[in-house]
Amino acid sequence: MTVPTVKLNNGVEIPQLGFGVFQVPDQETTAAVTAALAAGYRSIDTAAIYGNEAGVGRALAASGLPRGELFVTTKLWNADQGYDATLRAFDASLAALGLDHLDLYLIHWPTPARDLYRDSWRAVERLAAEGRIRAAGVSNFQPAHLRRLLDTAELVPAVNQIELHPGLQQAELRAFHAEHGIVTEAWSPLAQGAVLADPAVTAIADRTGKSAAQVVLRWHLQLGNVVIPKSVTPARIRQNLDVFDFTLTGDEMAAIAGSDRDLRTGPHPDRFN
Ligand code: NDP
Repeated sequence: MTVPTVKLNNGVEIPQLGFGVFQVPDQETTAAVTAALAAGYRSIDTAAIYGNEAGVGRALAASGLPRGELFVTTKLWNADQGYDATLRAFDASLAALGLDHLDLYLIHWPTPARDLYRDSWRAVERLAAEGRIRAAGVSNFQPAHLRRLLDTAELVPAVNQIELHPGLQQAELRAFHAEHGIVTEAWSPLAQGAVLADPAVTAIADRTGKSAAQVVLRWHLQLGNVVIPKSVTPARIRQNLDVFDFTLTGDEMAAIAGSDRDLRTGPHPDRFN
């Protein structure tokens, strides 16, 4: 199974489809990531706050896969924002993962009321300059946060990882990203299951013989999003990667566009501090 890659603004390539481990307990994470690697995933998305970086690291080590074939992302937690705290938190994440560098490091939330993300970003830029991360990005940044970051940033974030699925299509952010060369990465790409009964989705599932989840993932891929679906169920882990042998028509893409309804499964970035 060869997953296509998307080129980031510094030339680094990220697999367009990866594996997320939010809400997976550390002990179960090793089995889930092992199943994902066996199925053919090479990109793994974790975060310090998930408490399962060690579980991810155990699976990576046990896989025997060359480090260069893997793409590992983790995230700076809100309590660790600020220049020095970011550098310390990064070291702790790397140690938990058992790695000597990361492929992508993200500021997890802007937490605008704390107003530390520009200081945190300077630390992330230092990690990039030192070669300890191959790419630097953010998560849950709204256009206003990106503009404020870009005012002082040396590096343009390579990625903004945001909640995005048929119920929350994020047209404004996607346009901002396109204008600035920032790759859109979709979290909760299946809306944690909440979009799988959408009539536009199930109609395409009926036509193609694919599952609703596969249709939604295919929609993301055709929009150009990077996606990181999560599952702890081996059959679903395999199924979510099996989305490269069918195509949605223009009419079907347009039908899913009609599912947009401001559906948030997570907090609003302007108010999460
Ligand atoms: P997803 O949208 O990926 O949905 C996961 C849920 O869908 C699970 O309940 C899973 O069940 C179920 N599921 C998965 N595949 C299928 C399938 N083929 N058919 C039916 N049901 C399916 O939700 P997440 O919130 O986990 O988002 C994905 C990843 O995004 C996270 O794991 C994390 O890495 C990242 N994320 C980042 C955030 C951020 O702030 N940056 C916030 C939230 C997520 P089961 O596991 O039981 O199989």
